[in-house]
Amino acid sequence: MKASHFDYVRVQSVEDAVRVMADSDGEARFLAGGQSLIPALNFRLDRPGLLIDLNAVTALSGIRREGDHIVIGALTRHAEVERHPLIAAHLPLLAEAVQHVAHSAIRNRGTFGGSLALADPAAEMPACALALRAVIHVQGPKGRRSIPADAFFEGSYATALAPGELLTEVHIPLPDPAARHGFAELTRRRGDYAMAGLALMAGPEARVVWFGLADRPLRDLGAEAALAQGPHAAAAAALDGVEVWGDLHNSAETKVHLARVMIRRLLERMT
Ligand SMILES: Cc1cc2nc3c(=O)[nH]c(=O)nc-3n(C[C@H](O)[C@H](O)[C@H](O)COP(=O)(O)OP(=O)(O)OC[C@H]3O[C@@H](n4cnc5c(N)ncnc54)[C@H](O)[C@@H]3O)c2cc1C
Repeated sequence: MKASHFDYVRVQSVEDAVRVMADSDGEARFLAGGQSLIPALNFRLDRPGLLIDLNAVTALSGIRREGDHIVIGALTRHAEVERHPLIAAHLPLLAEAVQHVAHSAIRNRGTFGGSLALADPAAEMPACALALRAVIHVQGPKGRRSIPADAFFEGSYATALAPGELLTEVHIPLPDPAARHGFAELTRRRGDYAMAGLALMAGPEARVVWFGLADRPLRDLGAEAALAQGPHAAAAAALDGVEVWGDLHNSAETKVHLARVMIRRLLERMT
């Protein structure tokens, strides 16, 4: 299918993007990599009156170190995250996980910020943001604010972004040097969204985050508490009392079983 008619404007700054959005009365959408938005328009799942193209806003791109944080601009392509030396050196969880985002053609266009703003519950980047204690910076008609990843993902394709707010950059604290990471996902074919996925930080400030199991990335406090007791204990504690969703291919019970096997095997590989 083809998208319905829309107007198009290519903005040059964050301020312009926010202003044009505010003037649109909710009729506009930000266009980043277009890897999710354009298919949605073509299927007429969305019919905005205006696309605000962010691609000329250079201030939104790039990866830098600021003190004890790595800062990733919203418009940074998945491919840049994948090969950036700061990510490889300090955030190996992200370096590994991003290789599982779709295929290289999509990673060349799709953006880190677009993935967080979209908040697909089976996507890798939101889960990593939660596991890495990211803080999401946004700018909107009422000014700037920052939102911890713990409060950002509110449901299926739902975030704490208020109407008209633009995600500008993501600040990720450097993990403790003693921290180790683990990442695993189960997909029907390589490059597909996950049926079940796990992003994990072990050591000080451990975090266990599942994706593809519910309406948002899920932090598993029970598994985190059991991590120090070994892979079997963590697997037994995983997802205890957590509501998991089935999907077209697997029941909720199957997903819980797969997830427990996944965390046990991942921890066995890590120890
Ligand atoms: C075939 C295929 C397979 C894929 N497989 C995977 C996969 O396995 N894992 C995965 O994680 N993703 C996958 N994707 C999605 C891909 O990673 C997208 O690039 C990503 O989810 C959205 O990023 P984008 O830059 O393309 O955003 P866009 O498509 O441009 O935008 C997506 C949404 O986010 C909003 N948005 C974008 N940027 C901002 C911003 N800075 N501030 C506020 N709102 C913003 C847009 O308005 C829109 O609503 C796949 C896509 C395709 C087409």
